[in-house]
Amino acid sequence: MRNIESKPGRESVISKVLGATPEEEQEILEKFRNDFEHPDLAQKLHIIEKEKTPEEIEIIESINAHMGEFLKEYGGQPIKITPEKIIFLDENKLTNELLEKYSFGKDPTAITYPIKQLIVVIPPYPENYPKVKLDIARILVHEALHFNSFASVSRQKGKLESRQMGIAIEFPKQRFLEDLNEAIIEKMAMKFAERYFSQISPLEKDMRKREQAINEFPEDMQENAREIISSIFTKQLPSGEYKIMIKAHTIYEKERMGLKYILDTIHSKNPTEFSSPEDVFKIFASATLSGDLPSIARLIEQNLGKGSFKKVAQVFSKPHIKPSETQ
Ligand SMILES: [Zn+2]
Repeated sequence: MRNIESKPGRESVISKVLGATPEEEQEILEKFRNDFEHPDLAQKLHIIEKEKTPEEIEIIESINAHMGEFLKEYGGQPIKITPEKIIFLDENKLTNELLEKYSFGKDPTAITYPIKQLIVVIPPYPENYPKVKLDIARILVHEALHFNSFASVSRQKGKLESRQMGIAIEFPKQRFLEDLNEAIIEKMAMKFAERYFSQISPLEKDMRKREQAINEFPEDMQENAREIISSIFTKQLPSGEYKIMIKAHTIYEKERMGLKYILDTIHSKNPTEFSSPEDVFKIFASATLSGDLPSIARLIEQNLGKGSFKKVAQVFSKPHIKPSETQ
């Protein structure tokens, strides 16, 4: 395996500009660095923003505090995500029109806006929130990892558009490898949660309950249980009695299964080069942080057979919805 070194922190989300001369690129990147602290969108959304609770602020700050160490393993450059960089929208202040514009389903979600350099968390918040905070914390880590991954813009007719986020590339008709990028980001988020959440005091209790539930599984099933259980909460039934409920981890589940197949196959064909599928994953995670898509393409093509990268791209790409947004 190649030696991965950590680099100094990044000062803006965007690291590269296409369609500009080197001088213009420097100027645009400088503007992104200057805008980083005070994104316009944050001011616009202020009227529909939910004030963050002290616990939410503590979670964001703790995620930020551990991120540098976490990214080191993959050669990433951490970017500072202060609580101001994350906007929680207020369910009560959202009009139906806005809800339709921002809402993507029944579960809460979040969007990372690379050009706006902002993360927006969108209600509805979970039924058990803020009593159980694990699900929101998982979403925050997922978005923080998008923020920390490679991002480029392209300049077209004087306008800047998102070009690449991690290993996903925007084309007019498709978001190339979008689902593979999401699977990698979520797998990283799960590793982050496993490693650090029990050290984050507002999450400690929820993590302990989850650990107890995992320990109730037979030993050979505990690893699977860890992948499947997102959080544990109690629910009052109509009869009045309380029942312990398991919230399954469903974020990009299908996509993660596809990624698992790729990692397992590459490992099984290279047992000397890679000691485990996790070892292969390090290359995928590093490429997502650095934007080095060719390294992944090569690895897939060499191990899954000629033409396999094209097939992977077909499975993991998405038709185009809207540029410059990553969920
Ligand atoms: Zn995502």
